[in-house]
Amino acid sequence: MKNIRNLWNSPNLGMLTVAALTPSEWDIEYIDEHLRDIDFNQKYDIVGLSCMTQQIERGYEIANKFKEKGITTVIGGIHATVRPEEVAQYVDVVIAGEAELTWPTFLEDWGNGTYKKIYKELHPGMLDISTSPIPRYDLIKDYNYSTITINTSRGCPHDCSFCAASRVYGPVYRRKNNEQIISEIMRIKELFGNSYILFGDDNIFVSRDESKDLLREIKKLNVRWVAQTDISISDDDELLKLMAESGCQWVVIGLESIARKSLEGINKWKTDRLDSYRDSIDKVQSYGIGVMGAFVFGLDYDDYSVMEDTIKFIADCNFYGIHVTSPTPFPGSRYRNVMQESGRLIDLPWSYYTHWDVLIKPNLLTPNEVQNCIYKIYRAFVDEKEANKRFANFIHKFRKRDVGNVQC
Ligand code: SF4
Repeated sequence: MKNIRNLWNSPNLGMLTVAALTPSEWDIEYIDEHLRDIDFNQKYDIVGLSCMTQQIERGYEIANKFKEKGITTVIGGIHATVRPEEVAQYVDVVIAGEAELTWPTFLEDWGNGTYKKIYKELHPGMLDISTSPIPRYDLIKDYNYSTITINTSRGCPHDCSFCAASRVYGPVYRRKNNEQIISEIMRIKELFGNSYILFGDDNIFVSRDESKDLLREIKKLNVRWVAQTDISISDDDELLKLMAESGCQWVVIGLESIARKSLEGINKWKTDRLDSYRDSIDKVQSYGIGVMGAFVFGLDYDDYSVMEDTIKFIADCNFYGIHVTSPTPFPGSRYRNVMQESGRLIDLPWSYYTHWDVLIKPNLLTPNEVQNCIYKIYRAFVDEKEANKRFANFIHKFRKRDVGNVQC
């Protein structure tokens, strides 16, 4: 967990974008509660919160404390987008969907004393994100984030059953233009020097030609970056070379499962690629780019033999890192509907939606067994002998890597 926390220690880009959408006459304070205490005695005009599902109950607590003092409270983010009526019970205002259009309207209404309870996008998933401003990175200058987030796109064409993000942002893949993205990187460099950049897109490089042009520009900037993408990058040697040359350190790739029947329940496109998973990972890593394999364990055909196979697959692939999570029925996902309709949803508070708590009744194992299997997969991965083997493998690959003047 320490490793994971360190890797994902990055700012909330949604909040920094909302800050950039706020007229300059407003004074804005950004607070990341993981790193800094909230001063509940401050006299703010508006307190805005961005919450994922597992954070929403804490969001309600914070909102309530400020509401009691007569301060206008607002919640946005993915949970508010998929469950606006629930969230509206706890705050003055809900921003559902992308804030680029709704936040300025709310601020104007607030100024006139006529704000609504819920602000929703008229056409969800259709906003032209090239109109989105450069996030207010200056607000996090005093935070010691290990990676600074940029988003180049929203949406994903794959539509995995458990993924709420792809449904919220829609199937239309929307991308900022390269000039805009380069300006954001330059702003980060100006403020933070050579920080790691995290491309927070759910799936970067869907628009291949534009991505390659972007990487050619990033190559000139001497930065190090990490991203989330899909396994199809392994088909494109030109892309992989540009990624390595432009400072890519590692990528997260959602492989989900190596059990065909389990994977079939999630996504057909990934199932079709299952047989080439191993070669694809090897190909990406041969460019000196680490692969963090993301797996879900506890799907309908998962049992102890799938756990053993997964441990072996992970060891054989020499992954740079892994994420193994339990199937989580996030609100807004198709998977939640299926679990609900079949009476398999375990009714636990939102704070359990961590990815590691088991929230469905598994098919072949008990919830405890699923949790233990996940634990065993992680234990096998961090075994000292295994870790040394992986380390030796990476030293070899990074030495081979031609990265010009980019530091590894
Ligand atoms: S590939 Fe990733 S972002 Fe796209 S639908 Fe699947 S889980 Fe969601």
